[in-house]
Amino acid sequence: MKYRPDDTIAALATPPGKGAIAIIRLSGSRAHAIGVQLTGVEPEARRALLCEFRDETGDPVDRGLLLYFPGPRSYTGEDIVELHGHGGTVVSDMLLASALRLGARAAEPGEFTLRAFLNDKLDLTQAEGIADLVDSGSRAAARAAYRSLDGRFSEQVHSLQARLTALRVQLEAWLDFPDEELELDDTTEFAHDFDAAIAALQTLLSQAREGAVLSNGLTVVIAGPPNVGKSSLMNRLAGYDAAIVTDIPGTTRDALREHLSLDGLPVTIIDTAGLRDSVDPVELEGIRRAHRALEGADRLIWVTDIRSDLAMQLAEIRRVVGEDASVTVVQNKVDLTADEPAHVDKDGVTVIRLSALTGEGIELLTEHLKAVAGYRSEAAGTFSARARHVDALQRAEHSISDARRQVINTPALELAAEELRLAQAALSEVTGEFTSDDLLGEIFSSFCIGK
Ligand code: GDP
Repeated sequence: MKYRPDDTIAALATPPGKGAIAIIRLSGSRAHAIGVQLTGVEPEARRALLCEFRDETGDPVDRGLLLYFPGPRSYTGEDIVELHGHGGTVVSDMLLASALRLGARAAEPGEFTLRAFLNDKLDLTQAEGIADLVDSGSRAAARAAYRSLDGRFSEQVHSLQARLTALRVQLEAWLDFPDEELELDDTTEFAHDFDAAIAALQTLLSQAREGAVLSNGLTVVIAGPPNVGKSSLMNRLAGYDAAIVTDIPGTTRDALREHLSLDGLPVTIIDTAGLRDSVDPVELEGIRRAHRALEGADRLIWVTDIRSDLAMQLAEIRRVVGEDASVTVVQNKVDLTADEPAHVDKDGVTVIRLSALTGEGIELLTEHLKAVAGYRSEAAGTFSARARHVDALQRAEHSISDARRQVINTPALELAAEELRLAQAALSEVTGEFTSDDLLGEIFSSFCIGK
């Protein structure tokens, strides 16, 4: 996605279809002129004006509010015009088509926010926070995304950058005056500054890991033989009847997706048809989908009847899903036996005994899933984050630790200076001061059009 500042972009900013209002948004140097042509009214900065909307030939199409945000005080930093009309696909399509015929170009996904980023209205973690907010799968995830959008993540990255700059200044001074011996006191103080920077980075890293868990959530597939209680378990976790529960083996033929929140952790549960060999063509399709669903999942919950042989079941799991899959076995229907609900380890596989029918032992499973995801509970101040942030922060941590060793132990000041430079570059990737076009394309193309 290349930024062409001369292009004025336009898009429907509200979801397509019927709604209370539909918003057409324009951004760029021609936004104001096109707004005037579509309304016949001179827009006033940051004031809503009720006016007629017309197509490019002057025919009235709708009536609504005209808003104008002159750049640079706008979302994108450019002139923005918004037409808030009565919702409806045809009317908004007509207006958008007119805007395009008057010289605007259809915006690509995320292009408004990309422009905001390129015009320094927000940095990359904030832009990603916006996408995370829209996509958030739980209240905790939404709150965390808002904190990223609000700049909490960036602030901490900037304060780390400042610490590293101070360390570099100190190092460069020594490099410039090689005759001055490093005094013991200096190195002690220096080691202390390094340790403080490393500790701050480690705190940020663990927050980012937690934030990434919240943003990604956990996707689990529920599978197992027919009639063992898979649908019942899913309903128990979801808290209401989402799947049909019956006594006839093989009724759950489609993969059902359920989104729920376990103490704030967004969990997507995919319930599948019984993973077993079958001659029924419809059910075969269900099994095929179960295998496909497993590919994109973080974990398989294999449900069995506690009265069936566990060793045989484990062998069956390995046969169907392979040795390496992350599997949790649920021995369901514990209420039908004298056994107590339990969390046990069997040949390196977690086995949880519970009853989907009565709910006994269900908390053992939810606690286990939270642990698997690396989720404790929503910590105050958690912000949303992504794998790329965690990766960059880890690289920064390695570089600073290496720099510390080179200054204090060796000392090899040039190498240390280089490591600090690398650490700062890694931190800049997080906020986007130092980012490739490809990465930008990847990040912003996941946004909605009109965002
Ligand atoms: P699925 O085919 O694996 O999805 O199984 P279902 O959820 O449809 O359950 C099959 C039958 O087992 C139903 O009659 C359920 O009421 C029953 N069932 C499910 N879980 C339990 C349980 O924990 N205890 C008992 N006693 N019955 C259960």
